[in-house]
Amino acid sequence: MTSTESPVAGLTTRPATGTTWRDNALCSQVDPELWFPEKGDNGREARKICGTCEARRQCLEYALTHSVAGIWGGTSDRERQRMRNAKPGQPTLYNAHREVRNATIHQLAALGTLSPAEIAEQAGCTERTVHRVRKEAA
Ligand code: SF4
Repeated sequence: MTSTESPVAGLTTRPATGTTWRDNALCSQVDPELWFPEKGDNGREARKICGTCEARRQCLEYALTHSVAGIWGGTSDRERQRMRNAKPGQPTLYNAHREVRNATIHQLAALGTLSPAEIAEQAGCTERTVHRVRKEAA
């Protein structure tokens, strides 16, 4: 089942303290309806804003791993489904994103000063992903 959660709505439920990618969500400053385009509308206005959003990478990661609807990280439901279905190594935005995320995890882990939870927060993923990526590289 697809949720109607949105990055904007999430802003009202995030913790009052602490830093999350949603703190930098540009969509919190604009009409949220833009992120739920009508049929036939490709969400161009929302995508333009996503293109300049600091939280885009983390937002896309979240949307790819959760059941959400609408424009997230500059992508539509259908585009995210194509990314999920891509074969490993196939040149897609999702695979490129995963490579960048994995490299970030390895670099942060190499510092030797951060906990898996801290690495996860900085890399924009879950702690479980940090453990999995590190285990795959071992
Ligand atoms: S990338 Fe787009 S949908 Fe995601 S937080 Fe930024 S503005 Fe919102």
